[in-house]
Amino acid sequence: MDLEKRKNETRGGVLIGNSHIGLFLAKKAAGAKSAPLLSESFIFSGPEDVGKVTAALRFAETLLCETGGGEPCGSCHSCKKFSRGAEKGSSEGADFHSDLHFIGRQEGKKNISIEQIRELIRKLSLSSFLNSYKIGIIKEAENLSEEAANALLKTLEEPRPGVIIILTVSDPDRLPKTILSRAQILQFRPVKADIIYDYLAGRGASRSEAKNFSRLSGGRPALAFKFFEDKEYLEKYLRAARAFLEPEPLETDPIGSIGKGGQEGADAALEVIEIWRKAARDLVLIHLGNGDLVQNEILDKELERAKDGWTPARLLGLMEDLDKASLYIKGNVQPRLVLERIALNL
Ligand SMILES: [Zn+2]
Repeated sequence: MDLEKRKNETRGGVLIGNSHIGLFLAKKAAGAKSAPLLSESFIFSGPEDVGKVTAALRFAETLLCETGGGEPCGSCHSCKKFSRGAEKGSSEGADFHSDLHFIGRQEGKKNISIEQIRELIRKLSLSSFLNSYKIGIIKEAENLSEEAANALLKTLEEPRPGVIIILTVSDPDRLPKTILSRAQILQFRPVKADIIYDYLAGRGASRSEAKNFSRLSGGRPALAFKFFEDKEYLEKYLRAARAFLEPEPLETDPIGSIGKGGQEGADAALEVIEIWRKAARDLVLIHLGNGDLVQNEILDKELERAKDGWTPARLLGLMEDLDKASLYIKGNVQPRLVLERIALNL
């Protein structure tokens, strides 16, 4: 899957923004060289695409490095495995390092299953090749099924020495409190647009690309990079945003994936709702005279044309409806019906 590939390109990369977390983890890893960590669990909490997985992989790379202190040396056996892993762009950590295991929701599945957690626990309990740490990363852990969360909790309650578990999560309230209370929570925040601008410029983006995508990403560096690198993804985004901003009747499946149904359809619907919410928020900002704060600056002409068709009150009402819509979809209501209902009420 495209998006997955993009995210993984940052593997072994450096965290953009959230320097308080980068520093904390570097110190932790440096300290671990003289006084090894016994067993710790972390929750990396924050919006999607803000760098949680990048930070988790960087921390893992630093802990597993055979010579480094607060950062990976880049040349030992372990570090070389990481750089080869980054080249391959594989989505399974275990593919490139025997002491790192990476799991997330499998494609088309609603949850992270208990089987996946059992397999992870089994791998973490094997002794390490190099007598180093065993590290498990669970991506978007709010998707753990109830049984999976319970199985994980047992492991957290009876930790094995040298086992480090990192959960990334965008909605910590969806994790059982028992898990939250067993882990150290690090809170990631959206990154300032000028930091993302510099990052994109450093990766070869033109000025206007760096400006548009840093704004469009809403503080999420990995998303900004995705817009820059993946033209198809950008087109899809723009198509969905225009469906909302154009005066025609609202096209309820602008990216053509919602009709596929199942988890894929639900994920696509949530994505479209998020895009519409962003566009509605921008229209509110323009009405309030804060046009300089809009995220969809790349669509400034469309926003300008659309603005008179809406009053701020109607936009705020719509934003509430969109919030409800995403809750319905998460609660298994047919995405197509939910979006048609929105279209009818416009
Ligand atoms: Zn190294």
